[in-house]
Amino acid sequence: MNRVRRGPAPPPEQFEEFQAQELFCGRCRTAQPVRERLLLVLPDGELRQYVCAACGNSVGERRLTAERPALITR
Ligand SMILES: [Zn+2]
Repeated sequence: MNRVRRGPAPPPEQFEEFQAQELFCGRCRTAQPVRERLLLVLPDGELRQYVCAACGNSVGERRLTAERPALITR
């Protein structure tokens, strides 16, 4: 079998759904793209963990507070 694929080359892997973010990874000793992981759901927000996409090392955590609607005064 000699099957040759013709046509435009397939595009490289694209991960543009999430905004790429880089943080310094202590294990890689360089800035690496990170993956955001939901660590914990709090009553007033979320705790998210940032994991190095290269080695899986945890590079940071971030607490996101839920957006509160502005108080409406009458
Ligand atoms: Zn790393």
